[in-house]
Amino acid sequence: NSGRDKVCLYNSEDISVKERRRDIYWVPLIRKALRENNLFLVFQPVVQLCDGNISHYEVLLRMRGENNEVITPDQFIPVAERTGLIHAIDLWVVEHAIDFLAAMPSYMSYVSLAINLSSTAFQYPDLLPTIRDKLELTWVEAGRLTFEITETAAVDNFEKTRHMINKIRALGCKFALDDFGAGFCSFNYLKTFPVDYVKIDGQFIRNLLENETDQILVKSMVEIAAKLGKKTIAEFVESASTALKLKEIGVNFGQGYAFGKPDINLLDSHKVSIAILL
Ligand code: C2E
Ligand code: CA
Ligand code: CA
Ligand code: CA
Repeated sequence: NSGRDKVCLYNSEDISVKERRRDIYWVPLIRKALRENNLFLVFQPVVQLCDGNISHYEVLLRMRGENNEVITPDQFIPVAERTGLIHAIDLWVVEHAIDFLAAMPSYMSYVSLAINLSSTAFQYPDLLPTIRDKLELTWVEAGRLTFEITETAAVDNFEKTRHMINKIRALGCKFALDDFGAGFCSFNYLKTFPVDYVKIDGQFIRNLLENETDQILVKSMVEIAAKLGKKTIAEFVESASTALKLKEIGVNFGQGYAFGKPDINLLDSHKVSIAILL
């Protein structure tokens, strides 16, 4: 059901009974959502901390449920990852995000998007041709796309992933290392993968003002990123005072409820964000 031309190893001990029960519930819903286009994208601004201008928007996936309720990715992405459906989702998001850019009036051609990719996205041969063909077909400039990648145990093929990232970068797309600092091998990832942005995990930002350890860690991450020639983004920026602190520390970009929540429209939180940073 997940397509041909691949070999999958299945170990029933890997998945707990609870998870399996959840998978059985979600899999048909995800398939149906893909088939009937019950998925949609929302956009959250990423703001340049030096001047408050919007740098780009992160694309976040949503699913519409049976009763028209909105389902967030933490409910269905892990299932999709376990069952192989994530690949179809990754391609769906890439195609729809590029379509979204293509549909924009030309005076908004400065808008660029950051797309989340699952850690297995690079294991499939059709990711690169999908991106390349879609960009060619729509005339969307490759520089308007950044791909966010996270570290997960699922990345078992570093060499292949790095190779794919280089090929996609050769098209002109950019890369960000998401959830930096949250996992076990952040530094290994930083060393292995050629990325333009380091996205500091929200857990270091949430209590930044009260927690001196977080401040020290964020400062160090900023220093390391800068020395490696990479820009930093802080996520979960929930207050103006946090934004100001991050600016003071030298973080380049901020994203979070202080600037704007994910929305179906591109928010013009432009003025809001500037007001916060003044
Ligand atoms: P992420 O990439 O780390 O995305 C950040 C999450 O934090 C988003 O949740 C966003 O709505 C939320 N967030 C943003 N600002 C704030 C804030 O100020 N405070 C708090 N408390 N939360 C904030 P969301 O949209 O539910 O996404 C959750 C995760 O699902 C994402 O984490 C990402 O790993 C995954 N995901 C989302 N969309 C996609 C997609 O299109 N494809 C793939 N493969 N994964 C996706
Ligand atoms: Ca992300
Ligand atoms: Ca993140
Ligand atoms: Ca995350």
